[in-house]
Amino acid sequence: MDRIYEDTKFLMKKYGITANKKLGQNFLIDENVIDTIANASEISKEDFVIEIGPGLGTLTDKLLQKAGKVVAIELDERMITILKDRFFMYDNFEIINEDVLKVDLEKLIKENKENLKLKNAKIVANLPYYITTPIIMKLLEEKLDIESITVMIQREVADRLTAIPGEKESGAITYTVYYYATSEEVLTVPNNSFIPEPEVESEVIRLDLRKEPPIKIKDEKKFFALIKAAFMQRRKTFLNAIGNSGLDISKEKMEQILQELNIDTKIRGEALTIEQFAKIVERI
Ligand code: SAM
Repeated sequence: MDRIYEDTKFLMKKYGITANKKLGQNFLIDENVIDTIANASEISKEDFVIEIGPGLGTLTDKLLQKAGKVVAIELDERMITILKDRFFMYDNFEIINEDVLKVDLEKLIKENKENLKLKNAKIVANLPYYITTPIIMKLLEEKLDIESITVMIQREVADRLTAIPGEKESGAITYTVYYYATSEEVLTVPNNSFIPEPEVESEVIRLDLRKEPPIKIKDEKKFFALIKAAFMQRRKTFLNAIGNSGLDISKEKMEQILQELNIDTKIRGEALTIEQFAKIVERI
């Protein structure tokens, strides 16, 4: 831990940086964790890598050595100077000073892959935890031309993202992740691997984007709206949650659908499998 810890302290002192909690700034200081993230992403010189939230550049340093090109997207202007100073000698590095949620990733990936003739695009990051979910949703729902997403996130969220739909830890996002990707938990990371220490435990996960969804769904919008509605009031039975959801279907009609599908009418949404949600949507 020592060298990276010293480097981080040095950079923070040199540039007068104090971590901005609002931006989810927890800087990695554990070399093993950084190596694990870089290795788990399996990047090579044929890959185009997008790093979200490079911060002081600790992970960026490793990525630059392995990837064909790295584009780092960082919101905090203070980090931009540091990253420019630190990596000026790399010609495969570019920085975008912007909120990642506002960046046109589709265009960015297309241009870089085509211009540099790179094979795959991959996302690698130690994510800012206050926007983990919107970032993951953006990466999946925009159906980007990416191969994998290797990210550090809160452990609790990691459990939810990597659960099998219908398992206890499931949330609406579990179904979204499962529909678009396969997932694996790579490493649990203790709080003292960062400065400042986050209040929650962390975990590195990897998502591999599916070439085809695991089930055929005609109306994806309706499918995900139904799942969201079921989880909005997860303490209620599925029928009661749907009855109050504002979706264009009556409780009576839904009860009939459940009976036709031989599903217990007292079931909770979180116990429904992705196939059962798909069958219900087909009948609405
Ligand atoms: N990669 C560094 C590391 O591992 O030490 C820093 C990770 S820190 C958990 C998250 C980083 O995301 C911070 O540098 C923060 O400024 C940046 N960030 C926060 N919100 C962002 C946003 N909306 N778009 C892009 N970057 C953001």
